[in-house]
Amino acid sequence: MTPAPPSPFIPFALPDIGDDEIAEVVDTLKSGWITTGPKTRRFEEDFSAFLGVAGLHAMAVNSATAGLHLALEALGIGPGDEVITTTHTFTATAEVVRYLGTDVVLVDIDPATLCIDVAAVEAAITPRTKAVMPVHYAGLAADMARLLPMARRHGLKVVEDAAHALPTTCGGQLVGTLGSDATVFSFYANKTMTTGEGGMVVTRDADLAKRIQVMRLHGINRDAFDRFTAKVPSWYYEVIAPGFKYNLSDIASAIGIHQLKRAIAFQRARAAIAARYDAAFADLPVITPPQPLSGDMHAWHLYVLRLADDAKLTRDELIEGLYTAGIGCSVHYIPLHLQPYWRDRYKLQPQQFPHSQHAYERMLSLPLYTRMGPAEVQRVIDAVRSLLG
Ligand SMILES: *Cc1c(COP(=O)(O)O)cnc(C)c1O
Repeated sequence: MTPAPPSPFIPFALPDIGDDEIAEVVDTLKSGWITTGPKTRRFEEDFSAFLGVAGLHAMAVNSATAGLHLALEALGIGPGDEVITTTHTFTATAEVVRYLGTDVVLVDIDPATLCIDVAAVEAAITPRTKAVMPVHYAGLAADMARLLPMARRHGLKVVEDAAHALPTTCGGQLVGTLGSDATVFSFYANKTMTTGEGGMVVTRDADLAKRIQVMRLHGINRDAFDRFTAKVPSWYYEVIAPGFKYNLSDIASAIGIHQLKRAIAFQRARAAIAARYDAAFADLPVITPPQPLSGDMHAWHLYVLRLADDAKLTRDELIEGLYTAGIGCSVHYIPLHLQPYWRDRYKLQPQQFPHSQHAYERMLSLPLYTRMGPAEVQRVIDAVRSLLG
């Protein structure tokens, strides 16, 4: 009798790159223009069209981190200012604030959504507060219907970290069109669509867009594409600020053009897996992920399960058990208030963030990606059920 082959490991995340993406990259490589050029321009135009609202400027950058930095810089945020964001996020959301010499004020989450608590934001406002950065955690929209008017009342700028939120809707409108000052998407390898590394900044504000275009390419006062499109040989340019090197290459944009075409189908595939998980875990001692308001779309970037207090395993034991069963998991996130840099710089204590702390201690993210087949989804379900049941 031959032993059954070991079940292949189910990784936590896998990109879904199709033949069209590959052919477009090959076309780019053969074209003679591999840095920012015609494919990036097309990707930006397609991205604006995807959001479907006139007057939006979409600017491709080489990461969401770069995009968040550019958005805050263009808004004039600097030393002496404060920016409020959620403790329950990736460090990139907050680190860009420090790039500008600005102080970060972390606040707790709403346990019902795991997104930033709008009342906590309002309570944290001081005369130095200039902006607030909500995160659409896991792909579920933050409470923008309350946050945007509150920010406007206090004269605060709003920069949305939409790294998880393509496509997400809020009150029926796609994130990116909600009327904040800027929205930043990520195309990192494990996000809802990818360019390997990359991001997109979206704004309605023409002046903000102009500043971001200048600063993403060395502070050169000329559009990143002019060197490609110029009809006359043009060697002259002016540097008006010490800018950054944050432009996206045409190789990356070639991937993005085709990933974007699949973004809605990707969302449907992830939503179907999430619905299977929800049904399969309904009777277990767990809290399944918060659902969108009726009629709204959840991007389902992450499927975050929380253990109930009467679960027979700890979160760490469950992750260990799943790993032994050949299933990769992750935790989103170790809250910033526990990270040495943020904890020590701002003297933060877990008691200041009870909801984030409580959720963190009980949460894990299960595999959720379009290349998971029904049998792999079933293996995850069976493993979770046998460990917790
Ligand atoms: C991934 C991520 C980022 C950073 O995106 P990059 O494109 O890798 O720079 C920022 N914020 C959140 C919440 C993220 O998940």
